[in-house]
Amino acid sequence: MERRPRVALIFTGGTIDSVGVDRLDLAFYIEAGKRLEDGELVARVPELASIADVEEIPFRRLPSQSIKDQDLFDLVALIHQIFDEDRADGVVITHGTNTLEETAYFLHLTVKRDRPVVIVGAMRPSSAISADGYLNLLSGVRVAGAPQSRGMGVLVVLNDTIHSARDVTKTATYRVETFQGRDLGPLGYADNDGRVLFYHRPLRPHTTETEFDLAGVDGLPRVDIVVSYLGADGVMIDAAVAAGARGIVSAGTGAGRPTPAEDAALDRAKAAGTVVVQGTRVGSGRTVTSPGLKRKGWSAADNLQPWKARILLALGLTRTSDVDEIQRMFDTY
Ligand code: GLU
Repeated sequence: MERRPRVALIFTGGTIDSVGVDRLDLAFYIEAGKRLEDGELVARVPELASIADVEEIPFRRLPSQSIKDQDLFDLVALIHQIFDEDRADGVVITHGTNTLEETAYFLHLTVKRDRPVVIVGAMRPSSAISADGYLNLLSGVRVAGAPQSRGMGVLVVLNDTIHSARDVTKTATYRVETFQGRDLGPLGYADNDGRVLFYHRPLRPHTTETEFDLAGVDGLPRVDIVVSYLGADGVMIDAAVAAGARGIVSAGTGAGRPTPAEDAALDRAKAAGTVVVQGTRVGSGRTVTSPGLKRKGWSAADNLQPWKARILLALGLTRTSDVDEIQRMFDTY
């Protein structure tokens, strides 16, 4: 008989363990700042014990917009420690949905182990009518304990759906189906018959296959994101450079078009040694290395959301400032 999977649970906060004022508090609970006690969320899903040996590992619990780069470094170290001590076959991380995709992509690029790492969240607090977090947690544990999840990179599981950390983004403020892979779709499902099913495998390198290793890296260089809009001048770009940005992700209009004033400011930034990556504010689709972009010496973000491009650029800058090398990374990951 096969051994039951051992799954470690790391709770980082968010909506899933939040407590609202009543069962209809579906929108304001984060402002109340109330959470379940340690162990309480797991205790409310006794069915977990029938699918895995779960162990809760303490970590800080925050609304996800409070998470900083250092929390990500600590999370990677904790995941490595759990696997190196052979405490679990897979890890499930609960996370607020607001920045979940940024943490997921960071882990996807920097975790140097191939056992499953799954991030789950919820759109309704633990106290809500029809709270979605309990089933999302259970589905996450199923996915983390499934042998077929190994080597798939960091996975995001909500609403029965398994996404690659690279491709997924939050698309709606309150809907339970908010997480979508707009350009590339999901990898599979943690379905209602209890099965974990993959239909696709991520082709782009991740985890053990990337060149990013945090060993010896103290922190991420400053990378700012500047969003274009009708009539935008270059003030935000100049301010980012003045604040010491080593990289700027421009979330341009359409297929990656900043305003003329922003263009001029980005050229000034580039001349000052800041690496410029051109993305888009559209929310899906690629920005490409056009002749104009090449001439300017900027890189293109491919189909990464600007905040994911920030993660990749910051990690890239820990290794090089060479524009061709940075572009190679955007073409690779
Ligand atoms: N929907 C929640 C809110 O913004 C998400 C909280 C989080 O990401 O931690 O209120």
